[in-house]
Amino acid sequence: MQDAKSFKEYKTQVREALGDDFLRTAMDNFAIAYRASRANAFKEIDDKALIKDIAEAKACSTANMDELYAQFKEEAEKNGAVVHLAADAQEANEIIARIAKDENCTKIVKSKSMTAEETLLNHHLEAENLEVVETDLGEWIIQLRHEGPSHMVMPAIHLSRHQVSDTFTDATGKKQDADIQKLVKVARRELRQKFTEADMGVSGCNFAIAETGTIGIVTNEGNARLVTTLPRVHVALMGLDKLTPKLHDALRVLRALPRNATGQAITSYVTWITGSNECAVAEDDRKKVHFVFLDNGRRALAKDPVFAQVLQCVRCGACANVCPVYRMVGGHKMGHIYIGAIGLILTYFFHGTDKAKNLVQNCINCGACKEICAGGIDLPGLIKEIHARIQDEEGHPLSSALLGKMMKNRKLFHKFLRIAKYAQKPVAGNDGFLRHLPMIFAPDHDFRSLPVVAEVPFRDMWAKVKPAKTANPKYKVAIFSGCVQDFVYPEQSVATVESMRGKGVELEYPMDQSCCGLPLQMMGEKVAGRDVAIQNMEAFENSDCEYILTMCASCASHLKHNYPKMLGHDPKYAIRVQEFADKVIDYSSFMNDVVGIYEADFRQTKGDKVTYHAPCHLCRGLDVKAAPRELMVKAGLEYIECAEEEVCCGFGGTYSVKFPKISEQLLSKKMHNVEETRAEVLLTDCPGCVMQLRGGANKNGLDIEVKHVAELIAERRK
Ligand code: SF4
Ligand code: SF4
Repeated sequence: MQDAKSFKEYKTQVREALGDDFLRTAMDNFAIAYRASRANAFKEIDDKALIKDIAEAKACSTANMDELYAQFKEEAEKNGAVVHLAADAQEANEIIARIAKDENCTKIVKSKSMTAEETLLNHHLEAENLEVVETDLGEWIIQLRHEGPSHMVMPAIHLSRHQVSDTFTDATGKKQDADIQKLVKVARRELRQKFTEADMGVSGCNFAIAETGTIGIVTNEGNARLVTTLPRVHVALMGLDKLTPKLHDALRVLRALPRNATGQAITSYVTWITGSNECAVAEDDRKKVHFVFLDNGRRALAKDPVFAQVLQCVRCGACANVCPVYRMVGGHKMGHIYIGAIGLILTYFFHGTDKAKNLVQNCINCGACKEICAGGIDLPGLIKEIHARIQDEEGHPLSSALLGKMMKNRKLFHKFLRIAKYAQKPVAGNDGFLRHLPMIFAPDHDFRSLPVVAEVPFRDMWAKVKPAKTANPKYKVAIFSGCVQDFVYPEQSVATVESMRGKGVELEYPMDQSCCGLPLQMMGEKVAGRDVAIQNMEAFENSDCEYILTMCASCASHLKHNYPKMLGHDPKYAIRVQEFADKVIDYSSFMNDVVGIYEADFRQTKGDKVTYHAPCHLCRGLDVKAAPRELMVKAGLEYIECAEEEVCCGFGGTYSVKFPKISEQLLSKKMHNVEETRAEVLLTDCPGCVMQLRGGANKNGLDIEVKHVAELIAERRK
């Protein structure tokens, strides 16, 4: 559970988690194995189409939540169940405790329920002198250890078998072996006894089918069947978001849920319960069945135009499985009760600003969660939205407010960058890197070498490098360089111009363009980010270009997808911003798919072993995967695939300043994978990634050049 009182304390906790070698190894092994199993499980299914169908159906259920609840209640009560609706966590816990008292129950067995974690049900029932035992193996372990889950599907993933054997030794009063099979047997023996003694079973629920008043429970261990069948009373606790119209909708989710959760094609057990059944231990031979629905803000969320999509979550936990930050720090630092990307969001709604305000800053915006989310939720977008909301509620930190003010004023911002060129002189080396960082940044930020600001920005070179006008241009293109390629790596923009020689491309460079504004979004400065977006859109409106070309993957994705989200609802900008966004294209796609570049275009057709780092905002943000790799092959380069090529390098703009230790670990993993390829050149499509990777290679003395794809194409062109 996240209990840090301040951002500083949260960062200290994160740092401690980074030092947990067992956690790191367990997470690494799981992340690599998961990716392969998931791909295998989906190999004969169009996962994107399935996710789209699920998202649409869930959105429809969300919009009809009240009607579905009324229908479910009527049908379930026809079948002998009692249906309750709790406004909040406290009321849900009170209802369940009251049922236990009314039915003279004292011993409760529970199967896994994230909703019960949300309401802190166990604490409440124990305070009412009821004995509650978790029967899912992972949940039982963390209950014995008085910990919260560190993963939605695998709650004890952070623990070693030795830690578990110590826990079982304490619980049973007998020394237990650390052999996993033996530990499972201990759990089975201890828990079987609890099942037979229990008079009440509490379960969660994956689906609540309105048409028949049926609930569906998906598990791997079978304990939920014992919980729901053996005791004479069964209580199922579920969020209103579990409501779905028909069995068909549930079966659709069932195709994705185990595949996304653990990479299994099917789960071991799916249990359907409709009303009250025969029960030998009940006085009247009928089981007492209660369905408790929890609102806890869900009905309000369902009406929120931005956040309603949160209720499309099917609790597969995949957003944690692929999250590079979760992989480094584990669920106790990447969530409160709910963990991973969805946890950062739900914490705000279910547990309040205090618990959420540090967590929402710990997202590097890599988009890995969004790509695989079974509910089709724009998770990184919503995390940033909450960050901005919290800053609006609680006040903006001085540093981000100042940055917002400066970046809104293009001339001031560029003046600052020009002054930086002179200010860096005492620490600037001759190799393009700063010799050392000012003391306030060191030592946390010393894990990579940082580049110097360029002598001459690209905008000042433009008059010289601008190609002569073509009589009949095939393509009219305006360059959006972004601030890094303008002021730090202008040679990448120059290379872009050179790489298009003789291809009929007419280029222009609108001088009023500024930073794309993504750093402002990352800092929660929404208003400033919007102002910058308007300025950039207007800067390109005087151009008659067909394409707005950017060599920065992050800028491209932000301009193309986030600008319409920021401005599209305003009638003054809606059409203009969409026209702007439609023109935006990244370098590799433009060269490979639009201009067309072939082996015959290259002077040099052999040599150079290269490997590639796929920028998050290119491979996921823009779904561009083939173009850069095809360009490399056409240019005669020997492309060697790098392990985990699409995993974030740890840059994340301002993220690496806020969380340098996580950035360092991500970079170190990337450097290790790159080294393994034994390539001579590491290519990528984003100046931010170049900054991180080149800085890492320099700091670690790696014998590899790091370049933008455009640079290598320009070097090898005829
Ligand atoms: S965008 Fe990336 S870092 Fe952020 S929550 Fe999703 S997977 Fe994690
Ligand atoms: S947000 Fe998406 S990926 Fe995460 S648990 Fe929910 S459905 Fe799964």
